[in-house]
Amino acid sequence: MKHVILGNGPTGVVAAETLRRAAPADEILMVGSEGEPPYSRMAIPYLLEENIDESGTYLRKTPDHFKKLRVRELNARAVSLDTEQRRILFQDGHFEDYDRLLIATGSHPVRPPIPGVDLPEVQTCWTLADARAIANLAKPGSRVLQLGAGFIGCIIMEALAARGVQLTVVEMGDRMVPRMMTPKAGGMIKNWVETKGIRVVTNAGVKRIDRSAQPSVVDVTLSTGDVLSCDLVIVAAGVAPNVAFLESTPVHVAKGVLVNEYLETSVPGVYAAGDVAEAPDLFTGEHLVAAIQPNAADQARVAALNMAGRPTKLNGVLAINVLATLGLISSSFGQWWGEKSDQGGAGVEHIDEARYRYLSLQFKDDVMIGATSIGLTEHVGALRGLIHGQVKLGAWKERLLANPLQFVEAYVARSQQPMALAR
Ligand SMILES: Cc1cc2nc3c(=O)[nH]c(=O)nc-3n(C[C@H](O)[C@H](O)[C@H](O)COP(=O)(O)OP(=O)(O)OC[C@H]3O[C@@H](n4cnc5c(N)ncnc54)[C@H](O)[C@@H]3O)c2cc1C
Repeated sequence: MKHVILGNGPTGVVAAETLRRAAPADEILMVGSEGEPPYSRMAIPYLLEENIDESGTYLRKTPDHFKKLRVRELNARAVSLDTEQRRILFQDGHFEDYDRLLIATGSHPVRPPIPGVDLPEVQTCWTLADARAIANLAKPGSRVLQLGAGFIGCIIMEALAARGVQLTVVEMGDRMVPRMMTPKAGGMIKNWVETKGIRVVTNAGVKRIDRSAQPSVVDVTLSTGDVLSCDLVIVAAGVAPNVAFLESTPVHVAKGVLVNEYLETSVPGVYAAGDVAEAPDLFTGEHLVAAIQPNAADQARVAALNMAGRPTKLNGVLAINVLATLGLISSSFGQWWGEKSDQGGAGVEHIDEARYRYLSLQFKDDVMIGATSIGLTEHVGALRGLIHGQVKLGAWKERLLANPLQFVEAYVARSQQPMALAR
């Protein structure tokens, strides 16, 4: 049996290792397209802060790790797939056959169609190559404009601040992390960031980027009419799954590659996992891309076990986002935006702006389906436990609506009931 894994990020690596354990005699090929050893994108901010060097981003530290596991590594870009013949065509013209295929190609940052977006002073922050370019341009005192204040935008802000740049963040939404946090929470994060000396312009976009009269400087025109001279522009305006090579194949793709609870695509023998995959959501069953590393590892394990012939189900995807924005910890879980009241929805907010503490809990009937928090770092595991376990809260729901800060007590009381988790 020959397994081909397209992608050598966290998904590809965990899948290769799981496959080796589950199928000791099978052939495994793992393909990456960046010419780097397998590395973790989430370590890039630490690299930019100079807390680690490049080798600190590598997912496995011993150079012969994959050789010892008899996992063949290949640097090549898949450009098309023939699911009838079970073979992949690579950009260099060669083919690889497979018996089982895992699509673990992740996603890429999207560059909005703005005039000047391809100038060399305009960078994304996604790959090690991007990190090298940013490190070169983001020097103490450099004028940096960051386009987008979503998940990745907030994460890299800390690294940019640590490099001593003058940072302006421009966000189309009315708050920071608008697709991850409630309006109140996004507003509080914005206030926090501004107290740290970062300028945040919300409800605004970048209209154009032009080369300035000064060398290596660009003039950025905002939708507000302001023009800012910058040494570096970082585009953090969203990502899109790497699915181009699946065009004109029978593999069903929506935003990402659609998979069932076994991580199998619409084509038998072809699986997908990680940032490129859309798997069923824990609550709604609707397909969801959950582009975070723990999700990549979970899905990789399940996909690999199925590829090795051990039927294993994924227990639904729970959206989890945990952010450290210049020292302020925030998180959101599940359906944080809540459910309509005529569908059994109810919610409550606790707001303490002075101490940067915030909690929003959302319920459907007597189950917590989502939460957003700021500054409550110690017990967020209990929130996750309540939501992921779909714990029936009984009378605790009303108590939490009256005082949401009692969620730890609710977790202890209800998750220790023998029947509490049964649904
Ligand atoms: C700056 C930054 C910070 C982050 N911080 C966090 C964090 O704090 N917490 C968190 O949970 N997540 C974080 N993430 C997200 C996390 O990195 C991703 O969820 C994770 O990398 C997904 O792993 P993956 O293996 O599915 O995809 P990727 O890591 O993107 O790997 C995909 C691989 O596929 C290869 N590939 C792509 N196309 C092809 C092709 N056609 N042929 C062959 N190979 C191909 C690429 O070379 C790449 O190696 C961060 C991401 C970034 C960019």
